[in-house]
Amino acid sequence: MSDCLFCKIITGDIPANKVYEDADCLAFRDIHPKAPTHVLVIPKKHITSLAHAHTEDAQLLGILLDRVRQIAESEGIAQSGYRVIINSGDDGRQEVPHLHLHLIGGKKLGV
Ligand code: AMP
Repeated sequence: MSDCLFCKIITGDIPANKVYEDADCLAFRDIHPKAPTHVLVIPKKHITSLAHAHTEDAQLLGILLDRVRQIAESEGIAQSGYRVIINSGDDGRQEVPHLHLHLIGGKKLGV
């Protein structure tokens, strides 16, 4: 989607601090980190939100979660623990309308 912020990060039109990339997904550091590690993992396919995903996206959704797991390892927070968040839609306070998984860790998080 030409007017999507995260699609522009995928194409390189907007810079990002990338930590991982493959054919299916991209991961980069959140511009306003909530913890020492705050990485966003996004599909390269534009999916507006989790609510916009379809059953045929199930394999891609699984890949995204597996990449979160791998990035937690490479960030050195797999053992100490972390939180994975998907905000969806208005009530979920999703700000950027391109599906993304927040990987947050590196400190004891609040409840
Ligand atoms: P959400 O509320 O789940 O849609 O979260 C969107 C996240 O994207 C927020 O944590 C923002 O800080 C983050 N964000 C917005 N613009 C950028 C950007 N250009 N690069 C990295 N992270 C961004």
